[in-house]
Amino acid sequence: AKEIGKGRCVIYDQQKFTQPEHDVSLEAAMFQAVRNGEFLLNYQPIVDAGSRQIMGFEALMRWHRPGEGLVPPSQFIPMAESNGLINLLGAWALKAACVQLKRFEEAANRPLYISVNVSPRQFRNDQFLDVIDEALRLSGLHGEQLLLEITEGILMSDPEHAEAFLKEMVARNVRIAIDDFGTGYSSLAYLKRFPIATLKIDRAFIKDLPGSIKDVAICNVVLSLAKHLNLNTVAEGVENEAQLQFLARQGCGLIQGYLTGSPLLPEQALAMLVAS
Ligand code: C2E
Ligand code: CA
Ligand code: CA
Ligand code: CA
Repeated sequence: AKEIGKGRCVIYDQQKFTQPEHDVSLEAAMFQAVRNGEFLLNYQPIVDAGSRQIMGFEALMRWHRPGEGLVPPSQFIPMAESNGLINLLGAWALKAACVQLKRFEEAANRPLYISVNVSPRQFRNDQFLDVIDEALRLSGLHGEQLLLEITEGILMSDPEHAEAFLKEMVARNVRIAIDDFGTGYSSLAYLKRFPIATLKIDRAFIKDLPGSIKDVAICNVVLSLAKHLNLNTVAEGVENEAQLQFLARQGCGLIQGYLTGSPLLPEQALAMLVAS
């Protein structure tokens, strides 16, 4: 501003402030959106790699702004994480997803499971344990029907807290999945230390299958590791038959991706479930 009148300064100012100003207004809208009920959940089928039967769903949050459409989670989740709203939104998502799974299950007339994403801030929050108990109580789900998706980074940033928390999960039979497996910076040591049930192989390793020699090698090693450690495996972002065929042949148990089902509204997920 002190160099007002010089073209350069104006450009500098725009670069510096345009993005934050936009974020500030989106952030303000976010608080209002919570009150207006603009957040909803989609459910993406997770299917058996062999039979392709739906075994469960991952709950994925959506923010629908009236008149503006969907705000991508990659935009609003980090914002909610930094302003703390994720605790409120995450608690709502967990409870709503568990209650919804109960409805899916009653319609399908067989056991299913629900996978719910947990953010770093939620994981650290003292009230999170109560939220989990409340979700199980409200929905009437058994602990083993709930899978919490966390990243390697969440576990390793505070291993002591993680250890105590996971003990509580074991006591409830609530299972833990490592989301985006292989994309973090951590070692494999945590697989020895913590009671993990499932590895979710990140789409980064799936998308170039089966043509990429490196991705074939990585997936084979992960699947072999999981087999020997007695862990379930979910391949994320499966978009075509060739990927699914490869993964099924190599022993990947579960498949999630556009090929076998996109994230769906509850009524769409229900329709797919009863049609299958
Ligand atoms: P994620 O947990 O890794 O979720 C998988 C993402 O992959 C989802 O993106 C899903 O829509 C997308 N996806 C599924 N199948 C395919 C496919 O075949 N191809 C491609 N290209 N993509 C596929 P989405 O819904 O945009 O969510 C992005 C991220 O936002 C999630 O990544 C997760 O980290 C976060 N997120 C979403 N919902 C929640 C939530 O309720 N709580 C928290 N803490 N994070 C959430
Ligand atoms: Ca996830
Ligand atoms: Ca993932
Ligand atoms: Ca991911």
